[in-house]
Amino acid sequence: MARFEETADRKFRRIFICKKCKAKIRTDISRVLQRKVKCRNCQCKDFRPVRTKK
Ligand SMILES: [Zn+2]
Repeated sequence: MARFEETADRKFRRIFICKKCKAKIRTDISRVLQRKVKCRNCQCKDFRPVRTKK
């Protein structure tokens, strides 16, 4: 069980959503923080993590 949660966690941590067009981008958090990632739809550089539940 714990292993499954870990895997899911890792998976979701690497997926980000464009704040403008809500496209999903799979990348590393470090690349997002360094703004090296561009949305392929709108070229926007603002992303948020997939998980929004608290
Ligand atoms: Zn976008």
